[in-house]
Formats: sequence, C-alpha cells, structure tokens
Amino acid sequence: MKISRKDFIRSSLLFSGALFLPTNKISSFTKFIEEDENLKIIRGNIGIFNGRGGTIGWYSNDDGVVVIDTQFPDYAKQLHQGLLKKNSRNIDILFNTHHHGDHTAGNYYFKDHVKRIVAQENCPKLQKKRNEKPGEEHMQVYANETFKETWSETIGKQKINAYHFGAAHTGGDAVYHFENENVVHMGDIIFNEVYPYVDVDADCTLLGWPKYIDQVINKFDDDTIFIYGHAPTPEKTFGNKEALKKMSDYIIKLHDFASKEYKAGKSKEEFAKSKSVPGVTGRAELWEGALAHNLEASYRFVSEK
Ligand SMILES: [Zn+2]
Repeated sequence: MKISRKDFIRSSLLFSGALFLPTNKISSFTKFIEEDENLKIIRGNIGIFNGRGGTIGWYSNDDGVVVIDTQFPDYAKQLHQGLLKKNSRNIDILFNTHHHGDHTAGNYYFKDHVKRIVAQENCPKLQKKRNEKPGEEHMQVYANETFKETWSETIGKQKINAYHFGAAHTGGDAVYHFENENVVHMGDIIFNEVYPYVDVDADCTLLGWPKYIDQVINKFDDDTIFIYGHAPTPEKTFGNKEALKKMSDYIIKLHDFASKEYKAGKSKEEFAKSKSVPGVTGRAELWEGALAHNLEASYRFVSEK
C-alpha cells in the first residue's frame, strides 16, 4: 500500500504526515536504524539520514558539524542524537535545499541547537507563502542567512559552496558542495527512480529544471557523489551523475508530452488519465497517484505559464 496523495501533500505541509516511503521497503529502512541509528556514512566525514521525507545530509568532524535539510521535528531530533554520539561539537550551520515541508519542518527542532540557517533567498519566501494558514505559522522556522546565486564558506578545513542555477523543482532550490569529500546535496532536483513532486504553485518550471541539472553536470566531475532528495529505498538516495541525466530526460519527456497533447486539444482531465509518459521507464510511484499528479501538473505548466 502506498501513501495517498492527500497524505503526501499533508506531509509536505505539516509536521505529522505519512511515512514517506513505500511500506514494502520499511524492512530495509528499519535495518538502517538498527545498524547505525539511520546515520550512514557515504564518503569521509559525510553521511546521510533516511527517516521520513527528503534525505538529510550531514558533515561531522573535529572542526565542524553541518546538517543539510531537516525532515520533521521527531526525525530531526533522532538525527541530532545520533550526531551527538559521534561528536559533542555544536552544529555550525544548517542548510535548507528548498522550502518543502518534508525538508524544513524539522527546522523547528533545530532552532534551539543551531544559530545559522542558510538557504537560497526564495526559500524562506516560498515557505512563508505556503504556511500562511492560521495555526501553522508558529511552528515554521526560516533561514536567517540567504544568498542569491552563490555562497561559500570554510568551516574548519572544509570548504562548502552553495549554488542556485535558477528555478527548477521550486523557485528557491540550492545545491551544496563539500569540497574535501566532493559530495553534493541535490535536494529535490533529483527524485531517483520515482516520480517527482511538481509544485507549479511554488515556481517549479519544467523548462528550467533540465537546465539546472545541466549546469550541475558541467560544474562537478565524474568522481562527485550526489545526494538525492528521494528514492525508492535508502540505498538509492545517493550515487553518481547517471540519476541526474535520467531526471533531466524525464522532465523533458514529461514537458514535451504535455505540450503536444495540450496543443492537440486534449483536456487536463483526459491527459491525467494517461498510463505512462512516452519513452519513460524505471520510475515508481512514491505515493499513490504520483504519475497522475505529474501529468496534471505538467498540463498546468504548459497551459497556464
Ligand atoms: Zn521538494
């Protein structure tokens, strides 16, 4: 059984939400927790944390501790407790890759444990816009340092560079590069082997998204390890450029399909019933109705933009 679209949206908006994993994968997810409190090193001093929501990245060394994205408060706390067992040092910086709730809701937990939250300048703006509903605002914690296109700082011996290559998955996406290990956190620019969340109301652009990926591919070498926002299993939340190329290819094919059918006069409702995107294989639904959501959102993108 997959989570419903309603629950997915809810998990993006609120702190309580559906488990962001297909339930048939929970056994491997649980194994991660048992083995290493869900903290898995991927290279050098850099690791990932797969709880619920977008993959968290972390860096832990004698001269610096950094966290990228926060999922939800309960999982943020679990991650922090795991990090403290490795290293008693305070967290130097928290980064947000973008504003979606399954990447920023845990900021609420970290507000008492880190002074600096860094994000692209549109990230807190979109986060505020999304959480205007009464009763939710008080649990939102926003980035207090922002940048427009690039940001760079050396923490101890680690140089960290941030980049924004225009609107893509949202209007405020950033990627973070750790030079020593040559690891880049991609946030939701990459949904590996699953259909992405296409948030037309948060400035997602199907034309900008592939261009963003192209710039990342050109910027980093073939030794780079990329952390992906979402994947069907924790083991698939990081890897090489192959997932980037496939993501770009998917967005282009989705856009072309919507564009063609819209121009041919097909209605949004009819288009959303399509059983596949022509030429696309190897993507699963992370939540029920993900393909229909992609079709509907892409139709909106070509017809409204
Ligand atoms: Zn997202």
